[in-house]
Amino acid sequence: MRKVTRKILSRHALNLLERRTSLVSNSVDRVKKCHDLWGQRRNKAFFEIRQKLESTCSGRVRCMYCEDSEATDIEHFRPKSIYTEYAFDWANYLLACSNCNSNYKRSLFPVDGLGVPLLINPMEDDPMHHLDLSLTTGKFVAATPKGLKSIEVFRLDRQVLETGRRDAWAIFCALAVRYSELGRGVDRESVAAIVSAIKNQSFSCVSMYARNYYKLGGLSNVAPPEVYAAVENNPKIFDISCGL
Ligand SMILES: [Zn+2]
Repeated sequence: MRKVTRKILSRHALNLLERRTSLVSNSVDRVKKCHDLWGQRRNKAFFEIRQKLESTCSGRVRCMYCEDSEATDIEHFRPKSIYTEYAFDWANYLLACSNCNSNYKRSLFPVDGLGVPLLINPMEDDPMHHLDLSLTTGKFVAATPKGLKSIEVFRLDRQVLETGRRDAWAIFCALAVRYSELGRGVDRESVAAIVSAIKNQSFSCVSMYARNYYKLGGLSNVAPPEVYAAVENNPKIFDISCGL
């Protein structure tokens, strides 16, 4: 999981969401009203909402939770079955894969004694503050109670995800060396192909953590010498891989 930045929604789309929030709050059965209105998304406002969420996802529109699969579902961070007042709130929308949305998170939403969410919201929190990542094993280790609950609820310790993150680091290393070997502008087509591969990798968080290690001076402890040298020659690779 990595931090992503919410885009600004048009006035037209916000108006539709506000109208629906008002319809829900004025109805007797709010959950049913939410459900009915949620079924009505074939309109310009929801087209924009989906398009803005998709363009916020990393790589090839990867899920904001697992970063592995394609993000297909508009996800309510606060479940609409519990928090009907946030069912039509732009600030409550993320884009997730159907596996994370329907099989893992579902309507789980742990909070602490003050009602503060115990799940990482990638649009509001920086996952790096709550989760440490071992680049060589692909495993997340909780750094805070929020990190711990997030691993549990999103099942960020799924074997396929840990293997995927570990492999993403190996691929990043290979691409960094290749990118450095090609240099700039010598063979534009090959450089463009490498840049595209770097940019489109799944598990973008791996690059974010590697970049952070690099900034803090710890990357040489985990990266092979030729990879570290390649990154030092072209630190711009982090801007490409992190989509910055
Ligand atoms: Zn997912």
